[in-house]
Amino acid sequence: MAVGFRTLSRAFAGPAARQFRAATTRALPAAAQTRWHSSKHPKNFEAPTTEELDELRERVQEFTRREITEEVAAATDKSNAFPNEMWEKLGEAGFLGITADEDVGGLGLGYQAHAVVMEEISRASGSIGLSYAAHSQLCVNQVQLNGSSEQKQKYLPGLISGKTIGALAMSESGAGSDVVSMRTSARKVDGGFEINGSKMWITNGPDADLIVVYAKTEPDKASKGITAFLVETKTDGFGCARKLDKMGMRGSNTGELTFDSVFVPDANVLGKVNGGVRVLMEGLDLERLVLSAGPLGIMQAALDVALPFSHQRKQFGSPIAHNQLVQGKLADMYTKLQASRAYTYNTARQVDEQGIIRTQDCAGAILYAAERATECSLDCIQLLGGMGYVEEMPASRLLRDAKLYEIGAGTSEIRRMVIGRAFNKEYAGT
Ligand SMILES: Cc1cc2nc3c(=O)[nH]c(=O)nc-3n(C[C@H](O)[C@H](O)[C@H](O)COP(=O)(O)OP(=O)(O)OC[C@H]3O[C@@H](n4cnc5c(N)ncnc54)[C@H](O)[C@@H]3O)c2cc1C
Repeated sequence: MAVGFRTLSRAFAGPAARQFRAATTRALPAAAQTRWHSSKHPKNFEAPTTEELDELRERVQEFTRREITEEVAAATDKSNAFPNEMWEKLGEAGFLGITADEDVGGLGLGYQAHAVVMEEISRASGSIGLSYAAHSQLCVNQVQLNGSSEQKQKYLPGLISGKTIGALAMSESGAGSDVVSMRTSARKVDGGFEINGSKMWITNGPDADLIVVYAKTEPDKASKGITAFLVETKTDGFGCARKLDKMGMRGSNTGELTFDSVFVPDANVLGKVNGGVRVLMEGLDLERLVLSAGPLGIMQAALDVALPFSHQRKQFGSPIAHNQLVQGKLADMYTKLQASRAYTYNTARQVDEQGIIRTQDCAGAILYAAERATECSLDCIQLLGGMGYVEEMPASRLLRDAKLYEIGAGTSEIRRMVIGRAFNKEYAGT
């Protein structure tokens, strides 16, 4: 039996899971599965089949229809507060450890599956999707990829069940795009390190129990003097100075964090001392890839609103969708979504099936999807006319949420720079 069947069935225990298992087993001979021994996947990872991914998508849709209704999404936006009971619900559904080892509670399903879950959650609520990714990709997957077996055993079960909340902190108020210029320091002391400094714009920061924190262990060595740490937020000296009031992604709690002589034991160094930049940069590729599914979900949500509206709304005696100018907008929204979707899933398939992580495609997928999502949500507002401009409809929330993806996880300008530099590397010496 394929790993995917076992793992998915654990998440979706019950009659529905049995049906799923039977259907996909019938549809696909074992030989059609790709077994890939990649350093970015759990041991014995088998890339999921199209049928498994479709089935997973349906399961996530069932979850979002039940748990992340439009009322929940609107209330999360209005209150600017994450519905914290959602973490354990996401955990029970199996969605918090999509890329993690099975022996710590993960599903070991890879990056296409993670993108599917991210897309569908973001379709229901952009801000719940962003917090989801900060937890399941930025924190859980970084621990999965770089953690020792002790660290994984200690932290992943709690994170994957949703009993604890994760985050990742690299940005600082003076070090965003130029993140390796960070000033937060980690000084060696007896038995560990003492962290001092602050971090800015940290998703889930106000709620997190465990944060992957990057700090300078040897400030004179610039990028070669950065180390990643696993910081428990209950440690003395840790604080969240404030929760940020944002234009969008409201309810995805974002914080400014302070570290006042926070002691972190040697056992909580993630990766190697002074090896943090490798952890950071490799993490960024996969982070950009999985996060690119966020704007996909927002584009789909824009179509979910605009398509029925433009077929129901009548002006001049017929549905507005019968006007060619309106059809043009709908066609542009649809093709932008489909092109972005193809880019994201094709890049994720390469990672899952061949173990190839192309920096320019991870950056390219989110660059393309993010800008298209802003355009699609603007078109959605325009198609709704006056109703697009009032908060009774979700169109303005979609625009406010979409814009974040041109800034967070590296701005569009930096993504273009990353793509250009990847080509420079390929062409060096030719
Ligand atoms: C809602 C939200 C959530 C976030 N979550 C996290 C998180 O969980 N963890 C975390 O560590 N960080 C997080 N961030 C931080 C985010 O990654 C940074 O905001 C982002 O990298 C940009 O950095 P900056 O804000 O300092 O902008 P700056 O670097 O100051 O950039 C300002 C402008 O200058 C442009 N610019 C800068 N350098 C160049 C250049 N060389 N060439 C061309 N243009 C350039 C930028 O593109 C941008 O338009 C989050 C941010 C937001 C808004």
